[in-house]
Amino acid sequence: MKYKRILLKLSGESLMGEQQYGIDSGMLLKYAQEIKEVSAMGVEVAVVIGGGNIFRGVQADEFGLDRVQGDYMGMLATVINSMALQSALEKAGVYTRLLSGINIQQVCEPYIRRRAVRHLEKGRVVIFGAGIGSPYFTTDSAASLRAIEIEADVVLKGTRVDGIYSADPEKDPNAEFYSNISFKDVFEKGLNVMDMTAFTLCKENNLPIIVFNMNKAGNLKRLVDGESVGTLVSMTDMEETLTQ
Ligand code: UDP
Repeated sequence: MKYKRILLKLSGESLMGEQQYGIDSGMLLKYAQEIKEVSAMGVEVAVVIGGGNIFRGVQADEFGLDRVQGDYMGMLATVINSMALQSALEKAGVYTRLLSGINIQQVCEPYIRRRAVRHLEKGRVVIFGAGIGSPYFTTDSAASLRAIEIEADVVLKGTRVDGIYSADPEKDPNAEFYSNISFKDVFEKGLNVMDMTAFTLCKENNLPIIVFNMNKAGNLKRLVDGESVGTLVSMTDMEETLTQ
């Protein structure tokens, strides 16, 4: 096993599947299975899930809402997704704990770092809900911050593309794929990996990020097994590997 403790970041949008809004039960079960596989290998798994399939703070304006109110709505959306994932995991026989950045004690434990680490050590999948609990942040920032706090080996950012490209591969057929890239090059090339706050946190704390396709079955397990899947972003200023 290459990694002992991982933090998996999933976007809320990925839970929609082909839908326009909300949660697709098929996607939920699929993700639960993928997580179960790596947890069963003995990897300690923490998960941060976004809320973009339900609400994002940036939409507040459209609704005539205050931004901070909108951000809290977004955080609550992440709790809904986290609860759904928790249920799916438990149905699959995986022990889980949901820890929230805002207090909602009827449904989640409050986020306490030492408690999170203890759950991980006991083999429970820990889901961090409500981001970091503060407005003006994203769940990418929550993923970076929690990963640093719990001393995860890596942040695994599950997406629907294979990794980082020089341009959007869904729009530009000549986009080049990077299998390794340094933080510095991501920054200099203006590539979109995570928002800048989240990215900087990883960079300053030397926490590698792997961007990979979570929708390809078995990818998460392959990654944990040490196979080269997706794009590794790290301090190493090696020549990035370019393949078409
Ligand atoms: N959010 C926040 N603070 C946090 C995490 C999330 O205010 O620490 C709000 C923010 O409005 C964000 C929304 O919750 O737009 C949903 O999270 P995000 O956009 O990161 O979800 P994703 O894009 O991953 O689905």
